[in-house]
Amino acid sequence: MGSAASAWLSRYSANEAAQSLLLWYRRQGRRLPWRETRDPYRIWVIETLLQQTRILQAQTYIQRFFEAFPDLETLANASLNQVLAVWQGLGYYQRAYHLHQTAQKLYQGGGWSFLDSPQALENLLALPGIGSYTARAILCFTEKGKYLPVDGNLVRVLARLWKDTTPATQRSAYQAQADTLPDIWKTREVAFALMDLGQLHCLPQRPECLLCPMQRFCWGAEAGLASQLPIRKQKAPRPVQYWHFWLHADGKHVWLEQRPPRGIWGSLWCLPAHPLPKPPKNKPAFKHAFTHFELWGYVERVAEPPSSAQPVPWTRLCEFALPTPIKRLLHSQLPF
Ligand code: SF4
Repeated sequence: MGSAASAWLSRYSANEAAQSLLLWYRRQGRRLPWRETRDPYRIWVIETLLQQTRILQAQTYIQRFFEAFPDLETLANASLNQVLAVWQGLGYYQRAYHLHQTAQKLYQGGGWSFLDSPQALENLLALPGIGSYTARAILCFTEKGKYLPVDGNLVRVLARLWKDTTPATQRSAYQAQADTLPDIWKTREVAFALMDLGQLHCLPQRPECLLCPMQRFCWGAEAGLASQLPIRKQKAPRPVQYWHFWLHADGKHVWLEQRPPRGIWGSLWCLPAHPLPKPPKNKPAFKHAFTHFELWGYVERVAEPPSSAQPVPWTRLCEFALPTPIKRLLHSQLPF
């Protein structure tokens, strides 16, 4: 076991700490509707939707997604365009692409029965779009395996509990330590309780230690280090990419092309575009932030339709999955 978690376990009682946490959770934890399920399909979709998305925004999409694709079979048999149309506006489209691809693999391979095998974690990790956190979340929340899935929220809570000075960016180091905790710490209820603790008391800027049920067991708070943990490195400014977009439209149509499946806005419908080596002198029509860079879009109205594009009726635009800034831009151009 890693040193911080093992040192914590030798200093405090893991059992008493878990009991105190669960007592609080049963009285004051959040009652989130999607936590009620133990269905691996729903858990997988929900966890994927919740990544990089705020809960309020995700709620609408969770409902919409399950209305369109209530089970693995429906999702596996849907077209990618149908999935993208439900996903549009949520960003990080690679998630939708992977959900669709993995649904097809799982459906063809006989569904979720492999979750009962001892290799369940490895098998999950081999599927497109299922990473360390999601694989463990599926096993933990379905109660098929003993894991504590560690996301960014849990890194903060665990760093403070364990007085761990490992930088927050090294999430895998926290996960490795969590994997070796006693079983009482690797249940779905403890995972939900720790997540709620991170959202309700162990806040990023001002942890509310006096109200926290874990105060007696928190080494970081005892050492007066709560608000300094986890250690965060200063973020480097995001690099910028400059893109040129061609807009050709008339009163009835706008000309769009479907982007390649890989790369920025994979498989979405977009104005024909190409990256520029340096920024033009004029102002960009929009700026859009991705996780690792910013895209500045320069739009040119052209008299002839670009050869790679096809006409899409303005009245059918809502049937096409478009990147958010392009959707906004086109809505400002609507001829009616
Ligand atoms: Fe977080 Fe403070 Fe609770 Fe420790 S005592 S878990 S730092 S809120």
